[in-house]
Amino acid sequence: MTMTGTAEVLRPGDRGYDGARQVWNAMFDRRPAMIVRCRTVRDVVAAVRTARERDLEVSVRCGGHSAAGFGVTDGGLMIDLTPLGLASVDPARRRAYVQGGALLGALDDAAQRHGLATTAGNVSHTGVGGLTLGGGMGWLARRFGLACDNVVSYEVVTADGEILRVNAEEHPELFWGLRGGGGNFGIVTEFEFALHDTGTEALVVESTFTGAARHAAMRRWRDEHLAAPRQATFTASAGPGTLTLGYVWTGPDTGYRPTFGAGGVQTRRPMSYLQLQRREDTTGRHALRRYGRSHYLKSMPDAALDAFIAAGEHCGAGLQGYGGAIADVPQDATAFGHRDTMFEFGAGSSWTDPADDDAGRDRARAAAALLEPFSGGVYVNALGEEGSAGVRRAYPPAKLARLTALKDRYDPHNVFHLNQNIKPTGTAS
Ligand SMILES: Cc1cc2nc3c(=O)[nH]c(=O)nc-3n(C[C@H](O)[C@H](O)[C@H](O)COP(=O)(O)OP(=O)(O)OC[C@H]3O[C@@H](n4cnc5c(N)ncnc54)[C@H](O)[C@@H]3O)c2cc1C
Repeated sequence: MTMTGTAEVLRPGDRGYDGARQVWNAMFDRRPAMIVRCRTVRDVVAAVRTARERDLEVSVRCGGHSAAGFGVTDGGLMIDLTPLGLASVDPARRRAYVQGGALLGALDDAAQRHGLATTAGNVSHTGVGGLTLGGGMGWLARRFGLACDNVVSYEVVTADGEILRVNAEEHPELFWGLRGGGGNFGIVTEFEFALHDTGTEALVVESTFTGAARHAAMRRWRDEHLAAPRQATFTASAGPGTLTLGYVWTGPDTGYRPTFGAGGVQTRRPMSYLQLQRREDTTGRHALRRYGRSHYLKSMPDAALDAFIAAGEHCGAGLQGYGGAIADVPQDATAFGHRDTMFEFGAGSSWTDPADDDAGRDRARAAAALLEPFSGGVYVNALGEEGSAGVRRAYPPAKLARLTALKDRYDPHNVFHLNQNIKPTGTAS
């Protein structure tokens, strides 16, 4: 083990190397030539310069949850941001200052000490970095917008090793691109988030149906989603023979009582917001082999509801409602692709034995194929290894052109390409 600056540098054979190269999806067992564990923004600058001088492929790791394992490179230089994991809060200004390698749990914990929060994802061990740069969907998004809509400024290390402060006034076009464009334009070492007075309460309501009753219940659920208050985010999950319909509520109970659950087996679980934010930590745990497929659905005709129920016969299938403050932001205001989404659909499978890889992938593909006729795009952070075809589904053509112009300006040599890649002009396929 050697040290440069304040960073710890790990090479194959060093103690800690094998732990540091592991990412969430056990399908990816890659071996970087160097892992640079950065503690300061200067360490990040030095790591980018070292990679460029030695012509090493760069990967950037925050929470390590990329479905395609983009946080770890085979043979290149892995910039491990996890030592930059702190979140601090200024309650008077309602701001959170979050380092580029922090996990969502650090942000939520720091903010909730003051009864504050901002939109973050549903699993606390996901990285703030990757989640926010791709958009960032969570239980507060219908009230306060996506995570990226709540970023007031970024500190960014560019491919040239420059440190930029990026906000609505400074580098405004880059500010646009960082809100949904992923890790294409630089390494974010600090996010400044706006926080909201959310209180500390949450509620999860679910009703489970079997057999023929599933279809009628799901139609009621879809219709009630359209009129739901913004505190409610509608959810559905389908499995073999069963359908669970529900919603997650954040903030104090206002007496909202939708009727879609009638006839099902109902549960109503009050909990703290922090418990809600950790509720899926175990199902979303590390060290399993994983494969998922996803669609953005901009409408949900009856045939799509029936297709969703059928998808549950192949593997776990889920829906999460959009709308509200997500759709209030004008479509062109940020790089995020599809604000007019009604529901996000996801199909996912997990297993442990590499011999089951093909079967595991096939289950998720078969489920997602049933919803394909209704697909209006995809969330960039839900993509795996679909390559350029996936990126074209994530961004409408005009946005992709604007993102490409930004890439030409800030990373023309595509130093940051282990991501859902916006290719610079001349290299697009
Ligand atoms: C269990 C689980 C639950 C999830 N839940 C949600 C959810 O509720 N809502 C939601 O919106 N998404 C969710 N996602 C998807 C998630 O947003 C993406 O997987 C995201 O890429 C994870 O970010 P990460 O930092 O953990 O991943 P990493 O693999 O560390 O990073 C992914 C990519 O992001 C870029 N990146 C990360 N940090 C930085 C940085 N500081 N600067 C520049 N580039 C960076 C890099 O290109 C990197 O390759 C979930 C994923 C999983 C696995």
